[in-house]
Amino acid sequence: MALYVQKYGGTSVGSVERIEAVAEKVKKFREAGHDIVVVVSAMSGETNRLIELAKAIQPQPSARELDVIMSTGEQVTIGLLAMALQKRGVPAKSYTGAQVAIRTDSAYGKARIQHIDDQKMRADLDAGYVIVVAGFQGVDDSGSITTLGRGGSDTTGVALAAALKADECQIYTDVDGVYTTDPRVVDSARRLDRITFEEMLEMASLGSKVLQIRSVEFAGKYNVPLRVLSSFVDGPGTLITLEDEETVEKPIISGIAFNRDEAKLTILGVPDVPGVAYKILGPVSDANIEVDMIVQNVAADQTTDFTFTVHRNDFEKAQAILQRTCNELGAREVNGNNKIAKLSIVGVGMRSHAGVASKMFAALAKESINIQMISTSEIKVSVVIAEKYLELAVRALHSAFELDKADTVAE
Ligand code: ADP
Ligand code: ASP
Ligand code: MG
Repeated sequence: MALYVQKYGGTSVGSVERIEAVAEKVKKFREAGHDIVVVVSAMSGETNRLIELAKAIQPQPSARELDVIMSTGEQVTIGLLAMALQKRGVPAKSYTGAQVAIRTDSAYGKARIQHIDDQKMRADLDAGYVIVVAGFQGVDDSGSITTLGRGGSDTTGVALAAALKADECQIYTDVDGVYTTDPRVVDSARRLDRITFEEMLEMASLGSKVLQIRSVEFAGKYNVPLRVLSSFVDGPGTLITLEDEETVEKPIISGIAFNRDEAKLTILGVPDVPGVAYKILGPVSDANIEVDMIVQNVAADQTTDFTFTVHRNDFEKAQAILQRTCNELGAREVNGNNKIAKLSIVGVGMRSHAGVASKMFAALAKESINIQMISTSEIKVSVVIAEKYLELAVRALHSAFELDKADTVAE
């Protein structure tokens, strides 16, 4: 007998039929003798619909009120699922984030969980209930509703699993595990039996939205056994694990992540003097714009070019700021491009293997894809390319690194 926290995402609860199917699944786990806490998302499309509603009233919605609105999607699903369970003779109780007492800070729209009171849940579990908790939401010290950022129900699931010391946190979604790359883009993408927390964190940070980044951070920090599975078909899914020292042969590359959310800005002909990077990026960060990749060229004629990427939503704002900096510094001009994509290969096996980056560059060159920016870390290599080549590039790398083959181990 085990305690499982099971999170079901938007598509998995996307209709009355799907909610009934989830109830059947949960009932089977109960019949096998397990204790179950279920975390649910809003029905698919619902959170977007709620955001549109808010924007129809206020184009830049008040962050506090937007959280009040966005959190209602999950409240509908918990009630419906609790009813579907009760209908099947399974005692169930639904709770919003505030009712369970998921305390967060007050950063509306991206709140962080600070504390979870497990008393009520433990009492209910002891009394034989399945507990159905609304994902993606919490409450701050003043009693205001907060949300945890898009995809945040994953984090609710992991946080509850940590608080309850569950045997496993199971993330049920519309794919049957974590793949070598998004299976909706590459047909030959392969499900991984295991992936390390570190790799999963990179994959999530670099664009693989199968798990919210924070949920992976949380699971790594509190050592929560985490598994991604399909709510539609049975299977083992993918287990997210600590790095297994015993495994001698690791794949060099575990996966390919990508994202189309970034835009690139360049300031050309900047005087090459100390403090310039700060003068360029200071005003950008003062405007709360996050910068991702940064490249500064070697100076020629005492001037240099400086390029960085920001979220695509911040492109126009960053461009206007950079234009002002350009005038102040007497730089030549500002260029921008928001039709770029970032593509990354991820793998802990890279640590012990040279030549991974050059193999990546060779595969892209073979397809005549120009690399605009490069950044590397111990376990990833990222490149920026034109967005129109993204799918071709992902497929080229997927086959260059033989990710479609079952046993991709170090040669
Ligand atoms: P949910 O609504 O259940 O939270 P999401 O849409 O957030 O589901 O996440 C599942 C989706 O993540 C899949 O449908 C898939 O398209 C996408 N995805 C991106 N990268 C990967 C990957 N490496 N492995 C599996 N799925 C991925
Ligand atoms: N419903 C929220 C979203 O769409 C949270 C989630 O599904 O995880 O982002
Ligand atoms: Mg999700």
